[in-house]
Formats: sequence, C-alpha cells, structure tokens
Amino acid sequence: MKNLSVECKNGQFFDVNSLFLHEISKNLMEGLKIASKLPHVGTTIFTVMSALAQKTQAINLSQGFPDFEMPPELVRLTTEAMHQGANQYAPMAGWLPLRAQIAQKIAHLYGTDANPDTEITITPGGTYAIYTAFTTVLQPGDEVIVFEPAYDSYIPNIEVNGGVAVSVALRFPDYSIDWQEVRRKITPRTRMIALNTPHNPTGSVLRPADIAELQQVVAEHNLLIMSDEVYEHLIYDDLPHLSMLRYPDLRARAFVCFSFGKAAHCTGWKLGYCVAPPAFTAEFRKVHQFNCFSCFTPAQVALATYLKDENTYRSVPAFYQQKRDYFAQLMAQTRFEPLPSHGSYFQLYRFNHISNLSDRDFAVWLTQTHGVACIPASAFYRDATDHGVVRFCFAKKQETLDQAVAKLRAV
Ligand code: PMP
Ligand code: GLN
Repeated sequence: MKNLSVECKNGQFFDVNSLFLHEISKNLMEGLKIASKLPHVGTTIFTVMSALAQKTQAINLSQGFPDFEMPPELVRLTTEAMHQGANQYAPMAGWLPLRAQIAQKIAHLYGTDANPDTEITITPGGTYAIYTAFTTVLQPGDEVIVFEPAYDSYIPNIEVNGGVAVSVALRFPDYSIDWQEVRRKITPRTRMIALNTPHNPTGSVLRPADIAELQQVVAEHNLLIMSDEVYEHLIYDDLPHLSMLRYPDLRARAFVCFSFGKAAHCTGWKLGYCVAPPAFTAEFRKVHQFNCFSCFTPAQVALATYLKDENTYRSVPAFYQQKRDYFAQLMAQTRFEPLPSHGSYFQLYRFNHISNLSDRDFAVWLTQTHGVACIPASAFYRDATDHGVVRFCFAKKQETLDQAVAKLRAV
C-alpha cells in the first residue's frame, strides 16, 4: 500500500492510510473543508425547471433551447469534417478560416473590420466567453454594473473573480435602462458595465438613446464593457441590433460575446466567440489557453463553410419573429398578460389575473398542475424581486406551442 500524506490547515501531516483505518480527526475534517466561493448560489433555475418538466412530463417552455432539428447542412458539413480528419486540436484562438468568416460577417452586419488574428477568439459557448472576459479584467474589489433582471451567470462570474456586482434594476414593466440610476451607482471602483442586447429574460433591446448615454458614461468614467450579444440574430419588428461593434468608441472598450448555439439552433454545441481589441484579446487568450485551450474542431471547420452563405444567419430574425407572433396570438386566448418582447426567444407574461402565488411557486404549480414549465423572472434578480412574471421560451415547433397553449387555456 502506498504511503500517502495530506497536509492539514495547521501544517501537520497525516498518513492517509492510517487515517482511513482510524477515526478521522476533527482537525483533518476542518483541513479538508472547502470555503465556498459562491456561498449564496444553488443549482441554476434552468436545470431545476427542466428537471421538473422531465419528472412531471410537462411541456418544457422553461430553459431556452429549440425542440426542432438544427440545419441538416451543418450536420452534414460537421460529419464530413470528421471523415476528412479534422479531429485533432484546433489552434488555441480557433480555426482560422472560421475566424475569417466571422470577420466577414461582422463587416457585413456592423460595418467594421475585425482582425481574425488579433481580435476574434473561438470559445466553448457564450457563457465561457463572458466568464473569460470578467476573469481577464477583474481585480479584487473591482465593481461591475449589472442590469437586473440579469442572465444568471453574470453575478456569480463576477464574484468568483473577486469582483463586486453592483445592480441597477431595469424599469418595470418595459425594462428600460434608467441612466440616472447608472450614474448614481458608479464609484471610483467601477471598472466595467455588463450589457445584454437582445436581453434575456425580457426581450428588450438597446435603442439609439441608450447608446448615446452609454457612450457618455463609459467615456466619463473610463469603463470597460462586457456586451452579451448571443441573441444578435433574434431581433424583431425591423429593429436593428445595436452591437457595440458598430461604434468605434464603444468597441475600443468592449469584450463582445456571441454564441453559435442560438444562430444555428444547436445550443448543445456550446460554441461561441469573443471579439475584443488586440490588447484585450491577448490577455483574454492568456486565460483561455489554460482553461479549455481550444474548441471542438469539426464544428469549427463546418461553420467556416456554413457561414459563407449569409442567408444562414440573415434568415434567423424572420424565422423567430414568426414563432414569437404565433405564440403571442395563441396566448391571447389565455389569462396571461404579455409584456413586449422585441428580441431573444423569450416572452415574459404577467399572471396576476390568475394567482397571487410567488412567481417561483407559480412556476412549479403550473408545471405540476397544468403540464407547462416556465421560468420565474425573480430568478434573474439577486434579491428575487417578484413582479408576478414568468418567462416562456417560444423556440419550439408549432405543434409544441399548440399543445402548450391548449393546456395554458385551462389555467
Ligand atoms: N447569455 C445569455 C443571455 C443567454 O441566454 C445564454 C443562453 N444560454 C448565454 C449567454 C450562453 O450561451 P452559450 O449556451 O453559448 O454558453
Ligand atoms: N440561456 C438559456 C436560458 O436562459 C439556458 C442556458 C443554461 O441552461 N445555462 O434559458
């Protein structure tokens, strides 16, 4: 038997074998205890509600993901890449032809040149890109302005990096930004502002007036930007996506994060990218190279070809707008009251005509009693602000939406 030893907090060494043979001392227990880096965090609401939907066999309109197939052409190209031997490590920054294709897309959509060598990094998903941006920038005690409701990874990402998330509530019920409130929350420790447009869970989008305010605020206080634009193509009503990449002054301060999962209906691929100025990208890659290093090669090779056809992404807004409108028209036959959604694949609904339960209890009750799962909007607030609102995901086949609303009509 090997002689293994473990060092305890007090510097003493214990022989592991004898420890397993004898009663484990309190001292050792203390020595092995992990101090949680995220003491206030539980399992994400998406996992909780999807598990409940599965357990109760409810229709799952909670976690955001399509229930229809991803494009067969992309599946074909990926399979082909694997057969052709694209199965070893991709370069750390990503498959260069894919980065070049992304640069072209950015030029077409946002009228700016992004250098594939120095400004674009392929990541295993949008969440990872966001996490890496925070990790790259934040020093202990740095403050980040976060708008709430906020996608649930931002605040834990900031805190695990020793940063401090400073919340600014979006105005209810239109979820617009109160820029006076932003100004009030800025301190000498404010380092960054986190944006998300189109916004999860509200479907709100940044407007030209927001961009003008943002330009002033970041210049005045010398702030960096983390811009989560994973829903760039899921924007409706002919509204333009106001990417940070359109504005040279904002772009120069921004880590802009994207996800192929949304645009190509393959959330399980966990593939995305980050666009940032060369000096930021160099630091971003220092963190990235010792985390995942590089991403799944066949998918990158396939996407490099797939994205050559601009229609693959230009067709996405109309595709999802049809779903949003279809769902809204069905939901008009229920007692749920919609809040406007101009982007993402989510729609918020008030349920105050139906119940005075908390939104969490209501979401569980709806899943268990009526067989349709949703997400309580309070899950996107650190203090669980509850406006009596739940989120439904409409990225579903028409028949799924039909079946779900047939059940919701009975509520
Ligand atoms: N940001 C927001 C606002 C999202 O809704 C999602 C969806 N999962 C992500 C980031 C993460 O994207 P990915 O699945 O590519 O990590
Ligand atoms: N973005 C998805 C949502 O908001 C879920 C992502 C996840 O489960 N982490 O529902």
